[in-house]
Amino acid sequence: MSQADKSIHEFDFKLICEYFSSIERQGPGSPDVTVKALSFIDNLTSESKIADIGCGTGGQTMVLAENTLGHITGIDLFADFIDIFNDSFRKKNLQSRVVGVVGAMDDLSFQNEALDLIWSEGAIYNIGFERGINEWRKFLNNGGFIAVSEASWFTETRPDEIDRFWKDAYPEIDTIANKIGQMQKAGYIPMAAFVLPENCWTENFYVPQVPAQELFLKKYAGNKAAEDLVINQRHEAELYNKYKKYYGYVFYIGKKI
Ligand code: SAH
Repeated sequence: MSQADKSIHEFDFKLICEYFSSIERQGPGSPDVTVKALSFIDNLTSESKIADIGCGTGGQTMVLAENTLGHITGIDLFADFIDIFNDSFRKKNLQSRVVGVVGAMDDLSFQNEALDLIWSEGAIYNIGFERGINEWRKFLNNGGFIAVSEASWFTETRPDEIDRFWKDAYPEIDTIANKIGQMQKAGYIPMAAFVLPENCWTENFYVPQVPAQELFLKKYAGNKAAEDLVINQRHEAELYNKYKKYYGYVFYIGKKI
């Protein structure tokens, strides 16, 4: 990558970060879904150590904190997200139990077998589902849980337009059965898998982006990178509406054996 490419890329990175900082969640999800995924996990106490990887600004981490007693570490690559994260836990006086740190999911600094639960909503795709569940496994103690949400196909086949879109965006998208197989192969008991309801994409993800897009376009009028970002997000939302019966997010919960 040339230096010029790099600086353009860094600018885009800041823009993407600013865009997503303005909404509560940076991926599809909901408090109900987080609580439901937690209901399959039965090993937690006030001594538990939990990591929320790719935590973003911490929308789901807050739900985790309100429904568990242990210590939570949120990890995200974007320092601005981690600042928002730590501010909101300070405001709730939960800063002694929940701490956000800047870090990369492919270079985590936990000790082996230090964690009781690894959580990751809408983020593991950044290193790939299969790599993530395999590499993170060593951080869990025996009987520890992993709970991740991941884009998945609902059907064996689908229209070309959406197939091409996803194979370009995230070639590892696969059927639920295959993802469960990967979890089993990686050394987990697949404890549960469930499809996130549509409101996780619409009400909780695409709808809050509409006013954010208006403000963003006003602030960055004439800025091609900002306009492209909004165009891409709108295109993604349109595709979701058109093809939602073929794909969605699925929560996968596994127990280390
Ligand atoms: N879990 C949040 C955010 C999902 S968006 C939610 O559900 O709302 C994906 C997140 O992964 C973003 O916050 C992004 O900054 C983070 N991310 C991307 N690549 C990463 C990496 N290599 N290491 C850690 N975090 C990463």
